[in-house]
Amino acid sequence: MRTQRQVVDYSLQKRAVLRELLAGRVGTYDVCDASPYLKNAARFHGEPTDRRCPICRSENLTLVHYIYGDELRQSAGQARTLTELPVLAMTLREFQVFVVEVCLGCDWNHLVEQYLLGRDGLTGDSDGTDEQSVAAAEGAGWRRREAQR
Ligand SMILES: [Zn+2]
Repeated sequence: MRTQRQVVDYSLQKRAVLRELLAGRVGTYDVCDASPYLKNAARFHGEPTDRRCPICRSENLTLVHYIYGDELRQSAGQARTLTELPVLAMTLREFQVFVVEVCLGCDWNHLVEQYLLGRDGLTGDSDGTDEQSVAAAEGAGWRRREAQR
């Protein structure tokens, strides 16, 4: 998505949990604890994937996108389908997205990643909080100039 920024990837944490599970230091009851709300969100707003659940290996994982931010008002904390996100990103300045993977078979769930979306990402110089992507854009410009020599 065009305005996606400040991505935090939680795959390392996920691998750590799976290692703990394999080693028997945590039980499946501890990690397969998806709430009824999360499972409903997965059923109605979830994004199906072709990735197998790492625990039961019989169901495919579903991704749930939760949105947070002051501009969302009463919608904050709700799940949205992936197709709704670009529309919101063009209407709102900034909101946070949390992506959670869920298995509807065994209730495994884990935070996959979080990121920011919204129109503020289009300019990159709105309020100085987006210095990283500005630096990245400048870096890309520098590389383009280098390539032209
Ligand atoms: Zn499962």
